Amino acid sequence: MIVILKPNTDETSNAFKKTWDYLNKLENIRIQKHIVEGKFQRLTEIYLFGDTAALNKEMIETLPAVDRVVRVSQEYRILGRHKDSKRTTGFEYNGVHFDQDNLNIFAGLCAVDTKKHVELMMKALNENGQTCTRMGAYKPRTNPYSFQGHGKECLPYVFELAGKYSIKIIAMEVTHENHIEEIREALRQTGDPTGVMLQVGTRNTQNFELLKAIGRQNDFPVLLKRGFGITLNESLNAAEYLASEGNARVVFCLRGMKTSFSEPHRNMVDFSLVPAVKRLTRMPVCIDPSHSVGSREASPEGILDVFHASTQGVIAGANMLLVDFHPDPIHALVDGPQALLLKELPKFLESVSIAREAYEKIKNLFSPAKSVK
Ligand code: PEP
Ligand code: MN
Repeated sequence: MIVILKPNTDETSNAFKKTWDYLNKLENIRIQKHIVEGKFQRLTEIYLFGDTAALNKEMIETLPAVDRVVRVSQEYRILGRHKDSKRTTGFEYNGVHFDQDNLNIFAGLCAVDTKKHVELMMKALNENGQTCTRMGAYKPRTNPYSFQGHGKECLPYVFELAGKYSIKIIAMEVTHENHIEEIREALRQTGDPTGVMLQVGTRNTQNFELLKAIGRQNDFPVLLKRGFGITLNESLNAAEYLASEGNARVVFCLRGMKTSFSEPHRNMVDFSLVPAVKRLTRMPVCIDPSHSVGSREASPEGILDVFHASTQGVIAGANMLLVDFHPDPIHALVDGPQALLLKELPKFLESVSIAREAYEKIKNLFSPAKSVK
């Protein structure tokens, strides 16, 4: 059960204290407070765990600070929608807003290789009006002898360059909980020039101890990749692990499924599930066309498959786009073959905005205002 308090409820008010004390004394019930920082208001939600079936919803709704009470199903208790369309879907981080209605683009390096490449990438992003990027410092690799990323050594210059080019958020995969502290420390040392969104890779979607560790911190929001060989339900439950530990600032990323039926693509593009994830949960949904397609192949009209997959995901309503670029893909240490070129960035952004406009137009056909006779 979720008790949603009136917007901007002050925790020092009597109304809050009375409400909290009442809920805290309920027998066989554990309560957990969660703050949702929205664009215009601050919402406090109190989660009730335990024997909630016996509770009187109407009674709780009469408590002074309570706006409404939502009964939740067993699935995705915190991140799920539970047929309450009024609940907020987003969060704000370092000046960037994430929700199920907008779109943020994270173009960047799959892996940090050289400082020069990081600078060229960030400069190009800045020149094209971009404020978010992706930069891998910790790379999980199939082959133990492959380059595993520069790790914490590269963090200071990556963060400083982000500050120099006004990049507000870097999506960065972590593969061990120690990496969170390394990132925190490097940000501190460089004077917090940027923000980081912790990425959980597809190989770690069900690494429950890592999920719990990431869920226990609230400094950084999380980008959780769908597991490439598990059901959608299993991946959504992985996201719920993060929220159950206290961090509900989660973006869910579709990145394609591993199957030989996807050939010649690297993975089976699964972006048709964007609306399904939005219906089942309140998470903003990201698409990763680079790891889905895995190459620079183009269709006969000259459009790269990565462009096709991107616009397909955007027209399906995606809220975030994670895409690999590289200034010199031939010399990239990871995933060069799927990287887009810096000179392709303007055309890429233009394609995405055309697809987004088409999505908005289609959405308007279904908006309540249009259906009034
Ligand atoms: C990545 O985004 O760099 C990555 C490794 O993706 P995935 O976990 O989806 O393979
Ligand atoms: Mn990659």
